[in-house]
Amino acid sequence: MESGAEVFKISGHDMKLKEYREESWKPWKTPLSAQITIEDSRLTISAETGGISLTIDEEITLEKSSGGKDFSLILKENLRKSGTSSFTAGTLTIENRSRLKLDEIFLPLSTFKLIKKAFYKEIDRSVDPIFHSSADGILKSIGSHLEENTLFSHNIKIPPRSAMETGKEATGKIIFYPLPPLLFHNDDFKTLEETIESVIGNPEKKIILGINNISHLFFAEKYAKNESVLFFTDYCTYAANRATALFYRTRIKRLLFSYYWIEDPDGSPESLRKIENDFNPHLFVSRICYKRHNNLGTCSQCSKNLSYNLKQRNKEFTVTVKDCITWLYQK
Ligand SMILES: [Zn+2]
Repeated sequence: MESGAEVFKISGHDMKLKEYREESWKPWKTPLSAQITIEDSRLTISAETGGISLTIDEEITLEKSSGGKDFSLILKENLRKSGTSSFTAGTLTIENRSRLKLDEIFLPLSTFKLIKKAFYKEIDRSVDPIFHSSADGILKSIGSHLEENTLFSHNIKIPPRSAMETGKEATGKIIFYPLPPLLFHNDDFKTLEETIESVIGNPEKKIILGINNISHLFFAEKYAKNESVLFFTDYCTYAANRATALFYRTRIKRLLFSYYWIEDPDGSPESLRKIENDFNPHLFVSRICYKRHNNLGTCSQCSKNLSYNLKQRNKEFTVTVKDCITWLYQK
């Protein structure tokens, strides 16, 4: 492929999330062990879950069927379809106390459906408060832990994200260094350590490392006692909500803030910081070397610092290759 060639998008990796559609995400349903008892003039469904036992029974009139289909199979198939309920039928025990054999029973499906509906409605109604108080409890506990794990207080001015690509070339006293999200060689960790060490050898300087990958927590532990190393969690760590914020706050000493990603900040703790609109995060990063793997040349005689332009209809992209790692940005 040549520079400037037209490319076609197969799957979207842009920043705009697709509209959320409730029906695309089917909630998990709790399977219930239930028992159905069939009598000549009564049908009973009973179940037990989370310390709640529930029984629904209705008067019915059984008729003799000519179809010969096992009535217990009809019930089993049907009870599994639970509509909007949080439950579904798991293991079912069916007891036939009626005068008819199972393959002789006829009951209009509409009658059974009404009983089934009442059953699921009742079980949802009983269990709902338990579910909610449990979820509220978890959220409250995360909230109070977050308060306990207060942010490291500091008087450092945080520059915009676009001004942070400094790393080892930085010359100021306070260096914001977003760590590379992808490391290519085993030695890369060592190189990072050397860069950090070269800064902290100077008592006048502070380095603020941007955690961009869960493995970077290694540095948070390694420099936990070194006051000249501070941290923030960068956008690649996907600090999506307060639980993630807590995860980082409890593990990183001298954490300045976390960039949030995806979820709306409403109600988020103050440690989550919005990335500025003028900053253009990469769409993806790849260990494929764009040059070598597209047969544009070999890596041996290469500056390992390249840039290509790509076009896809009315969109333009920049491919940046640095040390055989490929970054894609939308222009
Ligand atoms: Zn290469």
